[in-house]
Amino acid sequence: MQKEFILTEALTTLHKVFGYSEFRGKQQAVVEHVCSGGDALVLMPTGGGKSLCYQLPALLRDGLAIVVSPLIALMQNQVEALQQLGIEAAYLNSSLNAEETQRITSQVLAGQTKILYVAPERLMVNSFLSLLQQVDTHVRLALFAIDEAHCVSQWGHDFRPEYRQLTILHDRFPHVPRIALTATADAPTRAEIVEQLSLENAEQFVSSFDRPNIRYRITQKNNARQQLLHFLETEHSDDAGIVYCLSRKKVEETAAWLKDQGWKALPYHAGLDSKIREANQRKFLQEEGVVMVATVAFGMGIDKPNVRFVAHLDIPKSMEGYYQETGRAGRDGLGANAWMTYGLGDVVSMRQMLDSGDAPEERKRVERQKLDALLGFCESTSCRHQTLLRYFGEEHPGDCGQCDNCLTPVDTWDATQASQMALSCVYRTGQRFGVVHLIDVLLGKNTPRIEQFGHQQLSTFGIGKALTQTQWSSIFRQLVAVGFLESDITSYGGLKLTELAKPVLRSEQEVWLRRDVEVTQRKTSKAER
Ligand code: ADP
Ligand code: ZN
Repeated sequence: MQKEFILTEALTTLHKVFGYSEFRGKQQAVVEHVCSGGDALVLMPTGGGKSLCYQLPALLRDGLAIVVSPLIALMQNQVEALQQLGIEAAYLNSSLNAEETQRITSQVLAGQTKILYVAPERLMVNSFLSLLQQVDTHVRLALFAIDEAHCVSQWGHDFRPEYRQLTILHDRFPHVPRIALTATADAPTRAEIVEQLSLENAEQFVSSFDRPNIRYRITQKNNARQQLLHFLETEHSDDAGIVYCLSRKKVEETAAWLKDQGWKALPYHAGLDSKIREANQRKFLQEEGVVMVATVAFGMGIDKPNVRFVAHLDIPKSMEGYYQETGRAGRDGLGANAWMTYGLGDVVSMRQMLDSGDAPEERKRVERQKLDALLGFCESTSCRHQTLLRYFGEEHPGDCGQCDNCLTPVDTWDATQASQMALSCVYRTGQRFGVVHLIDVLLGKNTPRIEQFGHQQLSTFGIGKALTQTQWSSIFRQLVAVGFLESDITSYGGLKLTELAKPVLRSEQEVWLRRDVEVTQRKTSKAER
């Protein structure tokens, strides 16, 4: 198709079928490129309008468009939405019985379907590949769209092995344009998508990942539940939001607890019965003011525009995770909060979880790096928008003026001496004790454990009395986060020195740490008021 012609056609369809007055961001460029038969890799943040990038070319090009999508729930929503616009759309996945599958197959072969959503595993099935072959010969294939393309990345938490075989589409039908889309934009994932899907010749369309309406805030954990409650009560008493927890158990406990406190809270994790899971998801989408307490299993493809907050009771595994999860807030463009409590325990347990898993060493190394980037972000003293965007290779012009670090600039202090005390305490006690015991030693307490190990004899016993328990705990957390200390999996929770600690102990390097604000708590629950 010719360029001017494509644009005119595209605008007409945009107005008439989709009811939008104009393209958003890179949509027009993508649509024009794919309509003229080019391959594309589209990186747009959640809510950026990715669907239109393949739906519109699907309508403009002759024949059937195939959309690979990893989630059944996602397919159903999209297909229903398209049907409401009068578009002949259908899906094929394991939720259909033989009869329904047969009916859709016949429609496809009769050229009555314009857009067909399929699960990735379906593409590998021979009968499906021969269906595509027939369509290609008799009806034509308009394009292949590969949604949530980051599922191809084995380092991400949405990894789907079947995605790695999708090159079969290109091998069998090299003349059909492909468009891969994702909201995960970091350079390693992008490179992996290109490599795994053989998209070397695809044009890349990268949108800004800035989410100016999200206010990022990270607070020091002291009593996470009370802190969460305080946050909800003061800022989100009637709002819909998501509370992320690491484990299924914690999801259930937290949801039950919030419910006791008078909140409309529901649990969501992969271990729940699918009926309950679906019912909870439906309530979250349809009712007002539901707080979904969930593991990362919840969220992909959830299109609820007015999620007003995303709270993290545990840290995510990476910056990508943090960005994706917090990105579910404020899709309507109105103000939304990304709030997280974060403490030393998180850092230690997350590192241990990575170390003790049975993943290959190389993968562990990548995961450790990703976690370290996130920890660095948590401890960072500069604008959150800037730090987050820089990670995705984008510059943010100036400070955002509304994140925690912009609103209350972080106070830092010369913690060189304190760090030396902490590090030598780790060394003198044999690099196998956890933070609670180390602080007891520094504060010169007479606990049974200190008696047992004779730690009153150490030169570091009681040298840290000038600081409080809380201050020491903040110092240790930051020393772990910046990599001077690491947790040793062979001694449960024990801390040991890393190479980086040496220059500090030799007084060759200064250490500046952030001064934590002590958080005051309110304890009245919603039910009590
Ligand atoms: P993504 O898949 O990137 O998360 P969607 O494709 O679901 O985003 O689009 C997000 C929202 O933006 C949807 O509600 C969609 O209807 C809307 N949208 C997409 N493109 C446009 C446009 N050109 N004009 C107005 N609204 C749009
Ligand atoms: Zn800022």
